[in-house]
Amino acid sequence: MRDTTSFISRRAIAVDASGIRKVFDLAARMTDPINFSIGLPDFDVPAPAKEAAIEAIRAGHNRYTPTQGIEPLRQRVRAELSNEIGRDVGDSLITSGVSGGLLLAILATIDPGDEAIFLDPYFVMYKHLLTMAGGTARIVDSYPDFRFHADRVEKAVTPRTKLLILNSPSNPTGVVMTEQEVRSAVEVAREHDLLIISDEIYEPFLYDVPRGLPSPAKFYDRTIILRGFSKSHAMTGWRLGVAAGPAEVISQMTKLQQYTFVCAPSPFQHAALKAMDVPMTDAIAAYRRKRDMVFDRLSKKFEVVKPEGAFYIFPKAPAGATATAFVEKAISRNVLVIPGSVFSERDTHFRISYATTDEKIAAGCDVLCTLAG
Ligand code: PMP
Repeated sequence: MRDTTSFISRRAIAVDASGIRKVFDLAARMTDPINFSIGLPDFDVPAPAKEAAIEAIRAGHNRYTPTQGIEPLRQRVRAELSNEIGRDVGDSLITSGVSGGLLLAILATIDPGDEAIFLDPYFVMYKHLLTMAGGTARIVDSYPDFRFHADRVEKAVTPRTKLLILNSPSNPTGVVMTEQEVRSAVEVAREHDLLIISDEIYEPFLYDVPRGLPSPAKFYDRTIILRGFSKSHAMTGWRLGVAAGPAEVISQMTKLQQYTFVCAPSPFQHAALKAMDVPMTDAIAAYRRKRDMVFDRLSKKFEVVKPEGAFYIFPKAPAGATATAFVEKAISRNVLVIPGSVFSERDTHFRISYATTDEKIAAGCDVLCTLAG
């Protein structure tokens, strides 16, 4: 008889999740930690969106929707994005979270052996999805400033490169690309005929960018924009995202959605329409204050880049220690942070999510600063 493990595909085995598993194992032993590991805002889903979800269920919106999503939501998203970008963004697809959009975009474009470029540190899913698709990740180091350096990216391009994946505001650094950086990324893409996937899930969380996010879609129509509701409206469990871009790619993603996710959850698509009417300005203002608070405290003891968006900060572990060793010390003092090695080829920094109460931020920063000596 076959050993059960022999049923496991090479594809599954190739996905290495050992880094994050180790953190979860350590975290499981903690009681009531100061939890700086959560990738989710600490505010609640806006009440009108909750009511709309309940109402949608009562009204019978419990069946499949069209694969591409309900028409009013698609039209609204397309209209708002087109208005922001300054041209028709192309077609749109409602996805099961931005994760769903990323999977479909990669499956729709990457053949075995094809390459995708993204910056290190990176949102870890990019690497794993590429592995699953049989593609190759070309990871470009962006330390120590975490900025987009076109010359470094240019060097990573080969004849097999198809995608440039951008993530601004960034998870895990909080860095927001400037318009100039975005333009230089677009130049690289244009020069080498690349499709850009622009992961803009943290777009509402911008603290120092008065004119809004400079999306590469403003300068380059061969861009797939991915946005979502998970972070903006604290609805990570509702699984809703949006993909918009060139019709040829979106229609292939839609076909693949038909045979995988089928559609995004029906009642929550209806509720998302309502959520789009709720101004989140107060919540964002609170997060700007949290950003200032965490940066002011940590910058006294750590080498750290000031984040301009999202709700993460990525300080360097004190000299002489790997990030993993420093994180183990923090965990022993009941502060849960994530070693940079989970998001990077390096093990020198650690990620803090400051999406928590001001009290916990203050207490957690005190512990980290004490550990830094
Ligand atoms: N992109 C980035 C950069 C993220 O941080 C996340 C969530 N942590 C996602 C995509 C996926 O989010 P979701 O699937 O919940 O929309």
